[in-house]
Amino acid sequence: MTAQDSFHIFTKKIGKYPYKEIDITEGLLGKDTGGMEYPGLIMIDASGFLQKKHPLDRYNELTEDVSHEVGHQWFYGTVGSDEYMEPWLDEGLTNLLENGVYDLTYTKSKSYCAKLMHSKFYTRKNVKRANKILKENANQFINKNQKANYINYPVNNPPKGVDTEDMAYKLGMDFPAVLKVAMGENKFFDALHDYYQTYYLKQATTQDFLNIISKYDN
Ligand SMILES: [Zn+2]
Repeated sequence: MTAQDSFHIFTKKIGKYPYKEIDITEGLLGKDTGGMEYPGLIMIDASGFLQKKHPLDRYNELTEDVSHEVGHQWFYGTVGSDEYMEPWLDEGLTNLLENGVYDLTYTKSKSYCAKLMHSKFYTRKNVKRANKILKENANQFINKNQKANYINYPVNNPPKGVDTEDMAYKLGMDFPAVLKVAMGENKFFDALHDYYQTYYLKQATTQDFLNIISKYDN
Protein backbone atom coordinates (compact mmCIF):
# COMPACT_ATOMS: atom_id res chain seq x y z
CA MET A 1 0.00 0.00 0.00
CA THR A 2 2.84 2.38 0.87
CA ALA A 3 4.60 1.67 -2.42
CA GLN A 4 1.41 2.36 -4.36
CA ASP A 5 0.60 5.54 -2.46
CA SER A 6 4.19 6.80 -2.78
CA PHE A 7 4.32 5.93 -6.47
CA HIS A 8 1.16 7.92 -7.22
CA ILE A 9 2.13 10.93 -5.11
CA PHE A 10 5.67 11.14 -6.53
CA THR A 11 4.40 10.71 -10.10
CA LYS A 12 1.97 13.56 -9.57
CA LYS A 13 4.44 15.87 -7.79
CA ILE A 14 7.71 15.14 -9.61
CA GLY A 15 7.04 13.42 -12.92
CA LYS A 16 6.50 10.19 -14.80
CA TYR A 17 8.34 7.00 -13.86
CA PRO A 18 10.33 5.69 -16.85
CA TYR A 19 9.74 1.93 -16.60
CA LYS A 20 6.72 -0.37 -16.87
CA GLU A 21 7.37 -2.10 -13.57
CA ILE A 22 8.93 -1.78 -10.12
CA ASP A 23 9.81 -4.94 -8.23
CA ILE A 24 10.04 -5.02 -4.46
CA THR A 25 11.68 -7.90 -2.67
CA GLU A 26 12.12 -8.70 1.00
CA GLY A 27 15.63 -9.20 2.27
CA LEU A 28 17.57 -9.52 5.51
CA LEU A 29 19.80 -6.51 5.11
CA GLY A 30 21.17 -6.20 8.63
CA LYS A 31 21.57 -3.46 11.17
CA ASP A 32 20.57 0.11 10.25
CA THR A 33 19.79 -0.78 6.65
CA GLY A 34 16.11 -0.42 5.89
CA GLY A 35 16.39 -1.00 2.17
CA MET A 36 18.46 -0.76 -0.97
CA GLU A 37 17.64 0.85 -4.27
CA TYR A 38 18.34 -0.09 -7.88
CA PRO A 39 16.56 1.23 -10.97
CA GLY A 40 13.38 -0.88 -11.16
CA LEU A 41 14.24 -2.99 -8.11
CA ILE A 42 13.89 -2.26 -4.39
CA MET A 43 15.03 -4.46 -1.53
CA ILE A 44 13.32 -3.95 1.83
CA ASP A 45 14.68 -5.24 5.11
CA ALA A 46 12.30 -7.64 6.83
CA SER A 47 14.46 -8.64 9.78
CA GLY A 48 12.34 -6.75 12.33
CA PHE A 49 9.36 -8.92 11.40
CA LEU A 50 11.04 -12.28 11.99
CA GLN A 51 9.61 -12.79 15.46
CA LYS A 52 5.91 -13.21 15.77
CA LYS A 53 5.84 -10.53 18.46
CA HIS A 54 7.72 -7.77 16.65
CA PRO A 55 7.68 -4.26 18.07
CA LEU A 56 4.72 -2.24 16.78
CA ASP A 57 6.87 0.65 15.59
CA ARG A 58 8.27 -1.67 12.92
CA TYR A 59 5.13 -0.89 10.90
CA ASN A 60 5.98 2.78 10.90
CA GLU A 61 9.60 2.04 10.00
CA LEU A 62 8.36 -0.15 7.16
CA THR A 63 6.30 2.65 5.60
CA GLU A 64 9.34 4.94 5.91
CA ASP A 65 11.70 2.44 4.29
CA VAL A 66 9.32 1.57 1.47
CA SER A 67 8.46 5.19 0.71
CA HIS A 68 12.16 6.12 0.82
CA GLU A 69 13.27 3.37 -1.57
CA VAL A 70 10.39 4.11 -3.94
CA GLY A 71 11.52 7.76 -3.81
CA HIS A 72 14.97 6.71 -5.01
CA GLN A 73 13.36 5.58 -8.26
CA TRP A 74 12.98 9.32 -8.95
CA PHE A 75 16.21 10.62 -7.43
CA TYR A 76 19.01 8.26 -8.25
CA GLY A 77 17.13 5.74 -10.44
CA THR A 78 15.85 8.28 -12.99
CA VAL A 79 17.97 11.36 -12.29
CA GLY A 80 21.37 9.84 -11.69
CA SER A 81 23.94 11.50 -9.43
CA ASP A 82 27.26 10.75 -7.79
CA GLU A 83 26.32 9.00 -4.54
CA TYR A 84 29.84 9.28 -3.20
CA MET A 85 30.90 12.82 -4.08
CA GLU A 86 27.47 14.44 -3.57
CA PRO A 87 25.48 12.10 -1.32
CA TRP A 88 23.01 14.83 -0.34
CA LEU A 89 21.72 15.03 -3.90
CA ASP A 90 20.11 11.59 -3.96
CA GLU A 91 19.64 10.96 -0.21
CA GLY A 92 18.47 14.46 0.73
CA LEU A 93 15.96 14.74 -2.12
CA THR A 94 14.76 11.18 -1.50
CA ASN A 95 14.37 11.90 2.21
CA LEU A 96 12.31 14.92 1.24
CA LEU A 97 10.02 12.66 -0.83
CA GLU A 98 9.70 10.29 2.12
CA ASN A 99 9.27 12.78 4.98
CA GLY A 100 8.24 15.99 3.30
CA VAL A 101 5.91 14.64 0.61
CA TYR A 102 4.58 11.13 1.39
CA ASP A 103 4.47 11.68 5.16
CA LEU A 104 2.79 15.06 4.79
CA THR A 105 0.03 13.72 2.54
CA TYR A 106 -2.88 11.86 4.12
CA THR A 107 -2.82 8.29 2.72
CA LYS A 108 -4.64 4.98 3.13
CA SER A 109 -1.34 3.23 3.80
CA LYS A 110 -0.44 5.48 6.75
CA SER A 111 -3.96 5.22 8.04
CA TYR A 112 -3.78 1.40 7.94
CA CYS A 113 -0.37 1.54 9.60
CA ALA A 114 -1.79 3.68 12.42
CA LYS A 115 -4.57 1.12 12.86
CA LEU A 116 -2.03 -1.73 13.18
CA MET A 117 -0.16 0.35 15.78
CA HIS A 118 -3.37 1.12 17.71
CA SER A 119 -2.71 4.83 17.24
CA LYS A 120 -5.49 7.37 16.96
CA PHE A 121 -3.23 10.29 16.05
CA TYR A 122 -3.20 9.79 12.30
CA THR A 123 -6.06 11.96 11.10
CA ARG A 124 -6.45 14.40 8.22
CA LYS A 125 -6.54 17.20 10.76
CA ASN A 126 -3.22 16.15 12.34
CA VAL A 127 -1.52 15.78 8.95
CA LYS A 128 -2.64 19.33 8.18
CA ARG A 129 -1.32 20.43 11.58
CA ALA A 130 2.06 18.75 10.91
CA ASN A 131 2.31 20.65 7.61
CA LYS A 132 1.62 23.91 9.41
CA ILE A 133 4.17 23.29 12.19
CA LEU A 134 6.93 22.36 9.73
CA LYS A 135 6.20 25.48 7.72
CA GLU A 136 6.47 27.62 10.87
CA ASN A 137 9.77 25.94 11.78
CA ALA A 138 11.18 26.59 8.30
CA ASN A 139 10.11 30.23 8.45
CA GLN A 140 11.76 30.61 11.84
CA PHE A 141 14.93 29.13 10.40
CA ILE A 142 14.84 31.56 7.47
CA ASN A 143 14.15 34.62 9.60
CA LYS A 144 16.66 33.83 12.32
CA ASN A 145 19.53 33.78 9.86
CA GLN A 146 20.96 30.66 11.47
CA LYS A 147 24.46 29.33 11.15
CA ALA A 148 25.18 27.95 7.68
CA ASN A 149 25.63 24.23 7.18
CA TYR A 150 27.33 22.84 4.10
CA ILE A 151 25.97 19.67 2.55
CA ASN A 152 27.74 19.25 -0.80
CA TYR A 153 30.69 17.33 0.59
CA PRO A 154 31.80 13.79 -0.27
CA VAL A 155 31.05 10.78 1.96
CA ASN A 156 34.65 10.52 3.20
CA ASN A 157 35.02 14.22 3.98
CA PRO A 158 32.00 15.84 5.66
CA PRO A 159 32.35 19.34 7.15
CA LYS A 160 34.16 19.35 10.48
CA GLY A 161 31.98 18.20 13.37
CA VAL A 162 29.20 16.92 11.10
CA ASP A 163 28.38 13.24 10.78
CA THR A 164 28.30 11.98 7.16
CA GLU A 165 24.85 10.49 7.54
CA ASP A 166 23.45 13.68 9.12
CA MET A 167 24.95 15.70 6.29
CA ALA A 168 23.53 13.57 3.49
CA TYR A 169 20.17 12.55 4.94
CA LYS A 170 19.13 15.10 7.54
CA LEU A 171 20.72 18.38 6.44
CA GLY A 172 20.39 17.13 2.87
CA MET A 173 16.63 17.07 3.37
CA ASP A 174 16.45 20.26 5.44
CA PHE A 175 17.84 22.25 2.53
CA PRO A 176 15.08 21.43 0.01
CA ALA A 177 12.49 21.44 2.83
CA VAL A 178 13.39 25.04 3.68
CA LEU A 179 13.59 25.92 -0.02
CA LYS A 180 10.02 24.63 -0.38
CA VAL A 181 8.81 27.15 2.20
CA ALA A 182 11.07 30.00 1.04
CA MET A 183 9.99 29.67 -2.61
CA GLY A 184 6.41 28.62 -1.93
CA GLU A 185 5.20 25.10 -2.71
CA ASN A 186 4.07 25.71 -6.29
CA LYS A 187 7.29 27.30 -7.44
CA PHE A 188 9.37 24.71 -5.61
CA PHE A 189 7.60 21.73 -7.15
CA ASP A 190 7.66 23.37 -10.60
CA ALA A 191 11.43 23.68 -10.22
CA LEU A 192 11.81 20.12 -8.94
CA HIS A 193 9.72 18.86 -11.85
CA ASP A 194 11.91 20.85 -14.24
CA TYR A 195 15.06 19.36 -12.66
CA TYR A 196 13.56 15.87 -13.04
CA GLN A 197 12.54 16.39 -16.68
CA THR A 198 15.82 18.07 -17.63
CA TYR A 199 17.97 15.27 -16.19
CA TYR A 200 15.54 12.40 -16.88
CA LEU A 201 17.71 9.28 -17.41
CA LYS A 202 20.78 11.51 -17.28
CA GLN A 203 23.20 12.58 -14.56
CA ALA A 204 22.96 15.76 -12.52
CA THR A 205 25.19 17.62 -10.07
CA THR A 206 24.51 20.03 -7.21
CA GLN A 207 25.34 22.89 -9.57
CA ASP A 208 22.73 21.64 -12.07
CA PHE A 209 20.18 21.53 -9.25
CA LEU A 210 21.04 25.09 -8.15
CA ASN A 211 20.88 26.39 -11.73
CA ILE A 212 17.34 25.06 -12.12
CA ILE A 213 16.25 26.44 -8.72
CA SER A 214 17.67 29.88 -9.63
CA LYS A 215 15.54 29.89 -12.79
CA TYR A 216 12.45 29.89 -10.53
CA ASP A 217 13.69 31.97 -7.61
CA ASN A 218 16.94 33.74 -7.01
ZN1 LIG B 1 18.37 6.39 0.53
